[in-house]
Amino acid sequence: MMSQMPARFDGAVVDRVPFRTSDGTDLGLCRISREPGRPAVLLVHGHTVSSEIFTLPEIRNLVDVLLDAGYEPWLLDWRGSSRLPYNEGRVRYSYDDVSLYDLPEAAAYIRGQIGDRKLFVVAHCVGAMALSMSLAAGLIPGLAGVVAHGVFLTPKVTWTVRLRSHLGGELLRSRFTHVPVDIKKVGLRSRYTPIFGLASLGADCPDPTCQMLHNSAWATGASLFEHDKLDKRTHDRLSELFGSVPTWILPHMRRNELAHSVMRWNNRDRRYARLPENALESAHRIDTPVLLMSGSKNKIWQDSNRLCHDLLSRRQPQLDVRYTEIPGYGHMDAFIGRGAALDVFGRIIDFLDEH
Ligand SMILES: [Zn+2]
Repeated sequence: MMSQMPARFDGAVVDRVPFRTSDGTDLGLCRISREPGRPAVLLVHGHTVSSEIFTLPEIRNLVDVLLDAGYEPWLLDWRGSSRLPYNEGRVRYSYDDVSLYDLPEAAAYIRGQIGDRKLFVVAHCVGAMALSMSLAAGLIPGLAGVVAHGVFLTPKVTWTVRLRSHLGGELLRSRFTHVPVDIKKVGLRSRYTPIFGLASLGADCPDPTCQMLHNSAWATGASLFEHDKLDKRTHDRLSELFGSVPTWILPHMRRNELAHSVMRWNNRDRRYARLPENALESAHRIDTPVLLMSGSKNKIWQDSNRLCHDLLSRRQPQLDVRYTEIPGYGHMDAFIGRGAALDVFGRIIDFLDEH
């Protein structure tokens, strides 16, 4: 089920931890340590990928760089991971579950292991959105710092992507429980063929998975990475890195995007009452320095993190919040790009070192 851990983290011990949340969901958690006493960094992937985005063996990855810089990386596969069965499962979840269970309980577990050592979180995309809700709920107090890439409290897409994902999302939701990205798994002639067809319109690259992610992400017209930033080996195995998108979660995403804030989905179920209805309105509860990052060519969340920085600096002047833009980068390539160690990870390490 879990990804194969590359056996190249020189001298590091890789410990897989059996980890079940209090709502009974089995997640993946893994510590990579070189020597005791280092500050810990929890790495949180985006939706439909997995913790493998931080350990790609074909590039100098974020785990390599953190180990060399004196940190102890922890990898979480939350319930939206492509390595876990939940995206294609019968039990539906919302991002509320990630904010209420997965992230706070993983952080609490790690704290139980590391004692009073510092804990940072580096989170990507939907992982960062869900984290913003956990922080606004006060469920993960006292972090040493947070790096949020792509999007955080203020999700925002272009109006064309919004329109296409609303109309297309309804159509998809009425016919499918999830949308795959690997045409080899579903066959060339399947009920998914029209979606792959839509995603391929005008594409330069012949790879169907690449078309589904780069040319027109799930046929919405968004793009998840800059094509020329990927190593060819990564490009040719995108179908291993990305899994299916559950269509039943799209209404929660839509509520967030329309509000330009991370919103609670479960408003009648008392279990979720610990989450605020609107995370942006509860941003005063964030008690940790935040580095917001985005590629200058992010073609899914656009300038969401710049907007987040402007709003937070104005409304929450007590917060240490910064924004850094990575020239020429899109979205996923900031972690899986062949030059990410050089162009991106140094900015993360500088921020962690400073705190
Ligand atoms: Zn391609």
